[in-house]
Parts: sequence; C-alpha cells; structure tokens
Amino acid sequence: MGGYVIPDNIVINGVKIQVLFNGSLDSHDEYGRYLPDKFIIEIDPMLPDEKKRMVLIHEIIEAINNIYDIGLKHHQINLLEAGLSSMELFR
Ligand SMILES: [Zn+2]
Repeated sequence: MGGYVIPDNIVINGVKIQVLFNGSLDSHDEYGRYLPDKFIIEIDPMLPDEKKRMVLIHEIIEAINNIYDIGLKHHQINLLEAGLSSMELFR
C-alpha cells in the first residue's frame, strides 16, 4: 500500500471541486470537510497519508451526497467511506 495521490481538483458530474489542505480545521470531530457553497474539500495536512485518503473518500461521498441530493445520513456516509477505503482493485 502507499503512493496515494491527493488530487488538486476533482470533477463530479461536471462540478469541479478543489481539494485544499487546511491546518486549522475547527470542526470538533472531523479531519476534513466539504464546503458545498464553495465546492471545496479541505483536509487536515497533519494526517498520515492513508488517513488523508480516507478523509478524501469521505468528503467525496459528502460531495456526491450533496450534488445528487441523495440524502444519506452521516452514519451511512461513514459506512460507504469504510467500504470504499477498504476496496482493493487488482487484476
Ligand atoms: Zn462527514
């Protein structure tokens, strides 16, 4: 494992989302956040790489949930994060 790339930008259904590192997230329980009014994902830069990747996946799910107006509950987002983070793609 390793070599994870954190992209600068992500496009979801034509919506461009900027990925930024923010060392002063004030959220009490999260290591990242999605700002739907600004189309920005912020990630705590102090996290280890694998945790950064999990936070990125979490915030991407948050963005999809918002853009497609799915209405996922936060515990469902956490479960999708767990499933997608544990996914291995190989051939
Ligand atoms: Zn969340």
